[in-house]
Amino acid sequence: MHLAPDTVALDLPPLNSTIALPYRLTPGKATGTFLAELAARRIVGSRCLSCQRVEVPAQDVCSCGHAELQFVAVSTTGILQSFTRLSDKTLGLIRLDGCDCDLLHRLHGDHDWAVGQRLQACWSDSPQAQALDLLGFEPAGQGASTGAAPASFTPSREPLDSMATELKLNYQHAAGPYYGRLFDEMRTSGRIMGIRCSHCQSTLLPPRELCDVCYERTGTWADVADTGVLLAFSIIHLKFVGQRRDPPYVYAEILLDGASTKIIHMLDAVDVEAARARLKPGMRVKAVWKAERKGSLDDISHFELIVPL
Ligand SMILES: [Zn+2]
Ligand SMILES: [Zn+2]
Repeated sequence: MHLAPDTVALDLPPLNSTIALPYRLTPGKATGTFLAELAARRIVGSRCLSCQRVEVPAQDVCSCGHAELQFVAVSTTGILQSFTRLSDKTLGLIRLDGCDCDLLHRLHGDHDWAVGQRLQACWSDSPQAQALDLLGFEPAGQGASTGAAPASFTPSREPLDSMATELKLNYQHAAGPYYGRLFDEMRTSGRIMGIRCSHCQSTLLPPRELCDVCYERTGTWADVADTGVLLAFSIIHLKFVGQRRDPPYVYAEILLDGASTKIIHMLDAVDVEAARARLKPGMRVKAVWKAERKGSLDDISHFELIVPL
């Protein structure tokens, strides 16, 4: 028989979460040259030696498929072809004078943008060899003339070899009724709730709908203590992405009193050298709660030894 757990009203908002993948992007020779030359207030395109098409930013291969190209310095003025207003910026497609394709970039400043208007480049005063050394484009001054035709050009700088980049996926995680009650009780009453399997009587923490010991449905909520026993631990010396504190520190597997499954948490107030010499599985630990709780396992700041080393 399936014993549905009793429920409580959950008022937890979804958890805001991010998956981040930082990496270094190698832009290649053409884009690397384009980015490096922005620091010299020069916009570099490429001219195809077969079809004569001028593209900007500079390309390693022409859109006609030909791979023999020469770098050209192109005009820093052009015509606004289209634009899109976003919440924090306006992006435009700009046809620089003498080019055969549009450059996507920011429109700089708060202006009444209009398709067809003439624009001029707007530069950063502190270039860092990156795309925003060219801050964007602004309306060209009164009487500004059409820019110079693309001219052959020998780069004065080494292409940018790599640049720090990050892929970010922001999302909201709905806790659901099981994690939801765990987090809600932690936040509002400082209780830790596990759930008991009605078949094998294991008390699972965090609580879940199916028992992963015997694969039956779980049934009854069960209080778990905020004291327990150290099962295992690691002393972390390496830095890695996503780390919440600087190493060294002790990360521990802890079996809370009343639970059948372990949790992993920080073991603090332990000198790392003393931990290496004397910390042993089986030692008793207790949770140290944060003063302000938000509804997550992080409401427990860390665990500490009941009898210090
Ligand atoms: Zn071509
Ligand atoms: Zn079970």
